[in-house]
Amino acid sequence: MSAEIVSALREMVGEGGVLDADELRKRSAGAYRFDTLKAAALVRPTTTQQVSEILRWCHARGISVVTQGGLTGLVHGADAEPSEVILSLERMRVIEEIDTKQRVALVQAGVPLQALQEEVDKHDLAFPLDLGSRGSATLGGNAATNAGGNRVIRYGMTRDMILGLEVVLADGTVLSSLNRLIKNNSGYDLKQLFVGSEGTLGIITRLVLRLREKPLATNMAFVALDSFDAVANFLKHIDRSLGGTLSAFEVMWQSYYKLVTSPPAKGRPPVPQTYPYYVLIESQGGDEALDSQRFNVAMETALDSGLIADAAIAQSEQDCRDFWALRDDVGQVMQGGLPIVFDVSLPIAAMEGYAATLAGTLDSEIGEHRLWIFGHLGDGNLHVIVQVKPMDYLKVRPKVEALVYRPLAACHGSISAEHGVGLEKKPYLYVSRSAAEVAVMRTLKAALDPKGILNPGKIFDPAPGCGRDQ
Ligand code: ZN
Repeated sequence: MSAEIVSALREMVGEGGVLDADELRKRSAGAYRFDTLKAAALVRPTTTQQVSEILRWCHARGISVVTQGGLTGLVHGADAEPSEVILSLERMRVIEEIDTKQRVALVQAGVPLQALQEEVDKHDLAFPLDLGSRGSATLGGNAATNAGGNRVIRYGMTRDMILGLEVVLADGTVLSSLNRLIKNNSGYDLKQLFVGSEGTLGIITRLVLRLREKPLATNMAFVALDSFDAVANFLKHIDRSLGGTLSAFEVMWQSYYKLVTSPPAKGRPPVPQTYPYYVLIESQGGDEALDSQRFNVAMETALDSGLIADAAIAQSEQDCRDFWALRDDVGQVMQGGLPIVFDVSLPIAAMEGYAATLAGTLDSEIGEHRLWIFGHLGDGNLHVIVQVKPMDYLKVRPKVEALVYRPLAACHGSISAEHGVGLEKKPYLYVSRSAAEVAVMRTLKAALDPKGILNPGKIFDPAPGCGRDQ
């Protein structure tokens, strides 16, 4: 069967466009993964028409198709079975148009995020989505998972930056919805159905993205605080004082700060390591002198009133890069054990209690471990990392998951702020979603993909049973 699939796909996209199962075993399964890809074949179309042909062929034969972008998603959302076909958009990486007047970009789905950032920068514009994996993550993948990242507090999630999409449906139908208008209320907003659907409703092939004016001035500071209350109050103070220019508010609990500012990490502490909380703030505006003045006044007020305990203000672009490098040095969690990575969302008022409870339950129920918490606090998103000994990993992982996810129901939190559900969080979907909500998701899935060939088994199972009882 595999050989038949490979040769049929080669007919459609050419010899070099298809990798067989053997070739796939040489390709990594993704970021922070130790395994390699498995599938009947990996097909790399170069046009929407080819994507359509491939899906029509697979649909007729009931062959499942798993779409892959940059494989930086972290929740096993693009894992494939040996009988399935992987469709990669890696050969569709053309930035087709940048319209500087309308301030939109038309791109193919395989364009890496960073490539678009760099290209629009040349036109004095910005595409404000930004995340650590910008070099490998693709715009199609960002849309399919509704990626969040570092600047959600200012610009929203990927969903908020998409004006139009071209999507190929399960049966090969091309749904072209390449809208360029910011305001368009003519009926259902179909593109939003596919944003965050993790490849289960259609394959995104091209996108119209909203661009912004490039910020002309950036101010940053690394701040130390004595209490979580101070963190929450500082967010309100700085957001109000900066008049809409706050573009990042990243919190780090002390243990994460120590990890990324001590050897073997390359970073060094901009403020002493003795405080319980740290915040990286960034402000982006349009006037260097005025922005700096306003930023410095806001920081002085916070220091003078005792709202913050200490602060280092970036004096150069290099300082800004160094500050961000600390925040982004997540790779340090690979040292000395295996990390279990979480991405949760909860109201700011509930965060301190949640983190303290989690630390307590991990101490009493899990053996040797380390806990790090950091995240985009400005938009309610915390990254929780629990590192355990490699030999304990498989045994304790389900326990750790339960300890992280279960308390979220009581505070109306989410099991996934920005990474998506994939296979990894599927058993816990009921913590964040009601039975009625999951039922509507199933209705949509059945309507758009009646044979269930698109990324099967991800987010929820087709049969009833995973929704919360009401
Ligand atoms: Zn994040």
